[in-house]
This record gives sequence, C-alpha cells and structure tokens, in this order.
Amino acid sequence: MRVGILGGGQLGRMIALAGYPLGLRFTVLEPGEESSAGQVCTQISGEFDDYRALYELAKVSDVITFEFENVPVESARWLAERVPVFPPPRALEVSQERLTEKQFFASLGIPTPEFAAVNSREEFDAAVRKIGLPSVLKTRRFGYDGKGQAVLRTPADCEAAWTKLGGRPLILEAFVSFDRELSIIAVRSRCGEIASYPLIENVHRDGILHRSVVPAGNLGEELTERAAEYASRVLTELDYVGVLTIEWFQDGPRLLANEMAPRVHNSGHWTIDSAFTSQFENHLRAVCGLPLGRCDAVGHTAMYNFIGAVPEIAGVLANPDARLHTYGKSFRAGRKVGHVTMRAANAEELAEKLPEWDRQFERPQDVNGS
Ligand code: AMP
Repeated sequence: MRVGILGGGQLGRMIALAGYPLGLRFTVLEPGEESSAGQVCTQISGEFDDYRALYELAKVSDVITFEFENVPVESARWLAERVPVFPPPRALEVSQERLTEKQFFASLGIPTPEFAAVNSREEFDAAVRKIGLPSVLKTRRFGYDGKGQAVLRTPADCEAAWTKLGGRPLILEAFVSFDRELSIIAVRSRCGEIASYPLIENVHRDGILHRSVVPAGNLGEELTERAAEYASRVLTELDYVGVLTIEWFQDGPRLLANEMAPRVHNSGHWTIDSAFTSQFENHLRAVCGLPLGRCDAVGHTAMYNFIGAVPEIAGVLANPDARLHTYGKSFRAGRKVGHVTMRAANAEELAEKLPEWDRQFERPQDVNGS
C-alpha cells in the first residue's frame, strides 16, 4: 500500500520508518527542498496549497495522512475527494482554531480552562473582567510550542499583551496553576476500534516539550480511565481514523483539556522503544485499515528532546539505558533535532535513575550546539 504524507518533518520520518516493516511505501509532500522525512522516502517539493503538487501526491498514494495540523483544510478536503484522507479533515478544522477547539471540548462535556473569545479591545477588557488575572491571552491560529501567547498577571501585562497580539482573533483563558501536564495518545481504526496508551507526564521548557515520563506516576485508575474516556468521545464524534493526542492540565482531581493534535505527537515518541506497538505503527495500521496493535508500555520510560543540536552521540550511547533517535536536521536554535528514550525495568528503578538522566539531558545543547 502506498501512503502519502503531508509534511516532511521528523514525525513523517518516524511514520515512514515504522511502516517499512509492514510493507508500506511512502511519499511526502513538503515545501522545502530537503526534509527530515525526505531522507527516508520519496519527496514531492511543493506548498500545501499547490494543487499541482497535491495532485501529484494523490496520483502516487492509496491513502493520505498528515504529520502536522496546519495543513490547509481546503487542501485536505480536495485530496479527500480523490483518495481516502485520514484523520478526517474536520479534525484539522477543529484543532487549527483554539476557540473552535475549546468549544468542541465543551460540547462533548470535556472540561477545559475557562475561556472567552476576544475580537476587539472591548471584548478583551470584558474577558479580563470575567475571567480575572492571572490569565493567558493566545492567538487562535498558528500557535505552537508556546508561540503567540502571553501570560497576564497585572494590568500592565494586559497592555503589553494587547500591543503584541491585539488585532488578530484571540482567546483569553484562565491561567491554571496545574500540578502537572499530562497527555493521552489514543487511536481509532477504520472500523471504529479504539485503543489508548498509558497517560504521559510532560515537562515543558520555554514552551517546548523537554521530558515525558510514562506511565505517569501517582495516578488513580479513575483519572486514567477518565482521560481515555474523554479521548474516545472526541474520536467517536469526529468519526476519526488514526492517532489523536490530547494535552491536559491536572489540577488536583481536575483534568482540563488544553489542546488536541490530530496526529502522532512528540509526547508519544517513547512508544517506539517502550510500547508493544508504536504510535507511528498504530497510526499507519489505522489509516491503512489494518487491526490495531497493543498499546501497553514495556517498563518505565523517560524521553528527552534534543533542541537545537544532538549531544555527542558516543556520550549518549555510552549509557546502557539509552535509545537514540536523530532526525537528520541541521542546527537551529529552538528546533527539535532528536530525542533519547531511557528505559527502566520498573517504577523503583525509574525513580532512582531519573535524577541522573535529568542531569545528563539538561539542555545545554540549544545554547552551544553547532
Ligand atoms: P499551548 O501552546 O496552548 O499548548 O501552551 C504551551 C504551554 O503554555 C502549555 O504546555 C502550558 O505549560 C502553558 N499554558 C498554556 N495555557 C495555559 C493555561 N491556561 N494555564 C497555565 N498554563 C498554560
């Protein structure tokens, strides 16, 4: 089966690498000349709204998927008239706009931080009065890794944030002093079968994922089940096919949805080394109409992102617990260029080793990488 992927980043690369053992073949569409995924599969170079390039991709694909959520919905719909496209374009539409996304969660009874639409200065002032401070002002579109947002703690912050972000469609959210951030990765097959991975605990630095630990510790069974149940509501409502990620704030017993990604996710990279079936393989199994694989975790795992540059490879590999993944990308500050998965046999071993791994994979590389 021939799979077309919109987007040539590391997620596309890892999807392709997971698909070769299943006998799948891949073509990516990517605007640049060379890409991370293009190093391991055929690449068509073109913009995502270049219909000639989209047509070329459709011609060589039996099914099309995407590896990032800012694919133009129109392009996905146009392709879907020619070739099956999974996840459904509607999932892109919902997740590309933060207000639509929050309203969608609310319509399914999934709790979120309190929010209000902001389309003008008057609405901004009214939203601040309603939600109060601290709160977070965000652009509704094209925000990722903490970009396009400002935390408001004082009236002066409100002025500065309005100067920076005002004039675009915005959303104001209550600032949640969460205990921690969690994510769930779930998958739905073409015939409606649903499976989900254990909850993942995530730590961000400068708005970018730094570390994921799985299974997240100190979780009641009830919380895990609740997250999986919320995910299955989203999957079912969208008649979704493929992997979906939902990011959460845990605030005591409350689980609040922050955002969803209609794709494989950075917080699921550990699944390559430490799950029975990786998120990438399960995504492919779903979109290709194959049975899903088991999602259980093997051992206890921490995944660290490499931002800017990969540390010296021999040093990473010298640690017997390490599994290294590099993305074939050149150095650029703030860019995800690789990750390492560290696996312990059980929770006790993880607790013992985690501080040492944290020290080893602290992030000097984004400062002095070259
Ligand atoms: P986002 O781009 O919405 O995922 O936001 C990036 C990061 O900013 C999140 O992972 C949180 O660490 C933080 N953040 C976003 N929204 C809120 C909020 N309403 N309350 C507290 N922290 C937030």
